[in-house]
Amino acid sequence: MSVIEPIIDAPGIDPQEFSKDTLGSGACPCLILNADYQPLSYFPLSLWSWQDAVKAVFLDRVNVVDHYDRTVRSANFEMLLPSVVALKDYVAQNRTPAFTRFNLFLRDGFQCVYCSSPDELTFDHVVPRRLGGKTSWTNISAACSKCNLKKGGRTPKEAGMNLNSKPYKPTMHQLQAQGRKFPPNHLHESWLDYLYWDVELKSS
Ligand SMILES: [Zn+2]
Repeated sequence: MSVIEPIIDAPGIDPQEFSKDTLGSGACPCLILNADYQPLSYFPLSLWSWQDAVKAVFLDRVNVVDHYDRTVRSANFEMLLPSVVALKDYVAQNRTPAFTRFNLFLRDGFQCVYCSSPDELTFDHVVPRRLGGKTSWTNISAACSKCNLKKGGRTPKEAGMNLNSKPYKPTMHQLQAQGRKFPPNHLHESWLDYLYWDVELKSS
């Protein structure tokens, strides 16, 4: 799901040099926006370590949009740590999402399609395998283990169970929209202009 390109080591840039600072690698994460200033990914939220963000600035691959009030220094350089950067080159988001467990749970909002429970999620073949049901986007749904057990090898109709939503093949856009519903616990204030309207409205 993550579409963040790893930053390859560039000659002449030594992030270790900056690490002499007391900042841990998990401190001051940087929000990554695409060239259109949309987050590269909502879930997981596209964040880089400050070291990767600093490196990307050096490589001239990003524009710094906002920064922390913290400075990092090396022998001959000093900069404010970026808190939001935007890629200079647009990363296309129209790829087909991979059919993975994570993406399937994300499509279904991490809850059972039958009873909406978020607990003990499993995968249900809506049309059971014994009737030729495939393991595919259009036949697998997230189901809690209770509902899965109750349904057994039957169709929802046979089991008298209703699906809240029919399984479908999502677009990347639909998955991103789902991901917006799950903001991480920590959000730096400088990120809010680029994320989650609800959070921003609540805090203003
Ligand atoms: Zn259930």
